[in-house]
Amino acid sequence: MRILSGIQPSGTIHIGNYFGMIKKMVESQDDGELFAFLASYHALTSVKEKEALENNIFEAAVNFLALGMDPEKSTFWVQHDVKEVLELYWILSNHTSMGLLERAHSYKDKTAKGIQANHGLFSYPVLMAADILLFDSNIVPVGKDQIQHVEMTRDIANSFNHAYKKEILILPEAKVDEIVATVPGTDGAKMSKSYGNTIDMFGSKKKVKKQVMSIVTDSKELDEPKEWENCNIYKLCELFMSEEELKELQQRYATPGEGYGHFKLTLLDKINEHFEPYAEKREYFINNPQKVKEILEFGASKARKVARAKMEQIREIVGLGLY
Ligand code: ATP
Ligand code: MG
Repeated sequence: MRILSGIQPSGTIHIGNYFGMIKKMVESQDDGELFAFLASYHALTSVKEKEALENNIFEAAVNFLALGMDPEKSTFWVQHDVKEVLELYWILSNHTSMGLLERAHSYKDKTAKGIQANHGLFSYPVLMAADILLFDSNIVPVGKDQIQHVEMTRDIANSFNHAYKKEILILPEAKVDEIVATVPGTDGAKMSKSYGNTIDMFGSKKKVKKQVMSIVTDSKELDEPKEWENCNIYKLCELFMSEEELKELQQRYATPGEGYGHFKLTLLDKINEHFEPYAEKREYFINNPQKVKEILEFGASKARKVARAKMEQIREIVGLGLY
């Protein structure tokens, strides 16, 4: 079974990415053959500055390695090191209807938030389909926002297979963990790198504190009992706490004198505690950029082998193989 996962180096990786995807991905290294990549071409849809993209790629690589990505066991690379994906993207574009892309929630959400509606952003799901199909992926662990894109991948693969009367592209399945399907950001909307509502995993203590303190709540006073049910702080605490700890927290919500500021500090402690054990390994990679580069190159060479073999089959089938 092949598991494929990608993340855009479009900004600092946040706890939504961690619980929505990275954690599952790292754990899945024991369940099957993991292919994981940093989606640098995808990130071009939102990052338009050279240094920012380069830094994001490095930072994402370092974080993945620190969090347990094993480059020997798995295949870990940067998307643009395996250019075959762009060829497949073009081929698949010709099996993707405009209507399918027009229905994409992610595109609609992003443009509604003021992100420029260009062709790259619009055709993003086709590139994602190419990422998945090029590597014969069976399972794609994602957050809820990406389920539709995986369904679109299946549609595109179906059209392609149908057109050439051959089951050449494998239909993938999205794997979503309901509890962490959508981690809310500090404003209550989906936490997203491009929405400015994130909480970092490895930010400075000061920065993470500022982010946590900015979580939006209702305006209940200290002496009023509060409701944990729809509280953004509580929803984030759920990711870090045991059942028992959550029960205790619920009690605190009902206790006059306990305020949102206190709950935020409890959450902050939990976040720091959770990511602390990875700090040393992260430091090591930050101080050894050459090592990170080598790891990514090694991963790209493994990924390229698979991609080349698949593209040869595909070229042959569509009529680009002979001449
Ligand atoms: P961008 O704003 O640039 O789209 P993003 O924060 O949405 O960035 P992606 O790189 O698009 O991150 O997504 C990487 C993975 O993280 C995907 O599997 C996605 O489903 C998951 N993910 C992103 N945000 C969340 C979230 N708030 N909750 C759960 N999973 C998430
Ligand atoms: Mg996203």
